[in-house]
Amino acid sequence: MKQIKTLTIIVISALLIAFVYSQLESKPKEKKTMDKMPIEKTEEEWKKELSPEQYRVLREKGTERPGTGEYNLHFEEGEYKCAGCGTVLFGSDTKYESHCGWPSFYDIDDKSKIKEIKDTSHGMIRTEVVCANCGGHLGHVFDDGPNPTGLRYCINSVSLDFAPDTNQSKNK
Ligand SMILES: [Zn+2]
Repeated sequence: MKQIKTLTIIVISALLIAFVYSQLESKPKEKKTMDKMPIEKTEEEWKKELSPEQYRVLREKGTERPGTGEYNLHFEEGEYKCAGCGTVLFGSDTKYESHCGWPSFYDIDDKSKIKEIKDTSHGMIRTEVVCANCGGHLGHVFDDGPNPTGLRYCINSVSLDFAPDTNQSKNK
C-alpha cells in the first residue's frame, strides 16, 4: 500500500513538473527585435504609398538596373531625400560621376541619417546603407570613392527624391 502511495506521489509530481515546463515553453519567446525605426509601417501601408519599383528596392532590398535610374546622370543643385520618408540624405555638392551606373555620392548629409548593415548576399561582402528613419534600402557604400572621404555611396535613384535648390543665394 505504501509503495502505491509513493508511486502515486511520484507520478503526480512528474505530471506537475511536465505541466510547469509546458507552460514555460509556451510563453511567447522574446522576439528577435530588428532595429526599431522611428517610422514603422506595415507592408500593406508601404505598398499603398510607394510605386511598385520603389517598393521592390526600398522594402525588398532590390536594385535598379545600372544606368537606368532617374538620377544617375543628374547634376542639378539641390537635395536628395529618402523616397520612403522624405529625410534629406545627400546634397548635390557631394554627387559625382563614378561611372558605376547608379547615383554616387562621396559623403552623406549627416551620418546619423543612415544605418550601415553588413550584407553578405550574392556571394559578396558589402555594406548596405538604409535610411535610419524608415529603414528603406538605399544602396551600398564602398571605399573606392574620391577624396576627401574615399567613400562611394552607391544609391538607387528610385530610393531618392530630388528637391531642386530654388534659393540660389543659399550657397553653403
Ligand atoms: Zn527613409
